[in-house]
Amino acid sequence: MKDDRQLKIESALAQIGSLEDPQTGGVTFPIYHSTAYRHPGLGRSTGFDYTRTKNPTRSVLEEASAKLEAGDAGFACSSGMAALQTVFALFGQGDHLIVSLDLYGGTYRLLERVLSRFGVKASYVDTNDLEGIERLRTPNTKAVFIETPTNPLMMVTDIKAVADWAKPNGILTIVDNTLLTPFFQRPIELGADIVVHSATKYLGGHNDVLAGLIVTQGKELSEEMFFLHNSIGAVLSPTDSYQLMRGMKTLALRMERHESNALTLARFLQQHPQIEAVYHPGLPEHPGHDVQNRQSSGNTGIFSFKVKDARWIDPILRHIRLIAFAESLGGVESLMTYPAIQTHADIPQEIRDAIGVDDKLLRFSVGIEHIDDLIADLGGALQAALNETEGAEA
Ligand SMILES: *Cc1c(COP(=O)(O)O)cnc(C)c1O
Repeated sequence: MKDDRQLKIESALAQIGSLEDPQTGGVTFPIYHSTAYRHPGLGRSTGFDYTRTKNPTRSVLEEASAKLEAGDAGFACSSGMAALQTVFALFGQGDHLIVSLDLYGGTYRLLERVLSRFGVKASYVDTNDLEGIERLRTPNTKAVFIETPTNPLMMVTDIKAVADWAKPNGILTIVDNTLLTPFFQRPIELGADIVVHSATKYLGGHNDVLAGLIVTQGKELSEEMFFLHNSIGAVLSPTDSYQLMRGMKTLALRMERHESNALTLARFLQQHPQIEAVYHPGLPEHPGHDVQNRQSSGNTGIFSFKVKDARWIDPILRHIRLIAFAESLGGVESLMTYPAIQTHADIPQEIRDAIGVDDKLLRFSVGIEHIDDLIADLGGALQAALNETEGAEA
């Protein structure tokens, strides 16, 4: 029998899909490939008709996701962008959204180059500035979209403050919770209506599955999202649903190690003579530190830093060996990227300048390797970069 007592999140994660196969008692859940399901009779259904609408393997993932995020319904999508597209399909001609200024580049591109074609307009603001948000509000404002912390500059938004402002105005609060996951932060408990994830990142955790998740709060919104998910059809395959659940079982352990490794590395870089600035909300000097501590139970493994000399960027990226120079984030392997010309290339120069994504900024997705090896790799690359530029000057 399935144990459905109120479990701590570590137990709920480890047990996703366990003991739910009544036929065999299998400890893990099977992958149902069938796209069609036999009807027992006219007007009757097993609950499954066609796999885009509902698939048994995907349902296990979706129900677990809803529970983890403290919402009513979960929807698994074929990518984080597919999840965002499905959520944004709530809006149409004339609707207006207020959006975090320091935004994932792909979300910005979707809003500005795709949603704009359907007459949806977005305005960007530091979502920690409630007066700034209020100034942007129009009678057509339908939602406020938040990333917290943001990537790459780790700006923190007070989710509860925004949701408390939005609700009486009839505005939805949507949070992209990719960087913290429900293990560290549950926006719905803070008043959000919708949570979105690129599950490709921490939830999957192994850089080997592309997936997105949506969790909704409230019956009406959940029914509307079910309709959009099925109508648009960007749903997650049964195999990828399994792969994602497999990753999620170890989320708690991974997040704890990501957090401690990232904090240790951030402190190492803070003391380092070649470093100009470190952006990590877990550091007491960070402007979002108190809000972050209040609304989350831990810190993401992502942080950014600026080197003092832009000429070091290229040699650092050539000399890191354990840490890979690659896009993406949230996997067990450490990855470093250069936002100005990679993840944020689609963000206009003036917005990049305004938020500080410049040519000295590196973003670090800290993996779960041993901290000593990570410090040695990064320290060695910084030293090699210094040697190269000094050699050039000599
Ligand atoms: C990666 C990412 C996305 C897009 O997700 P995909 O799975 O790559 O489609 C959206 N938001 C954030 C914060 C991300 O990091």
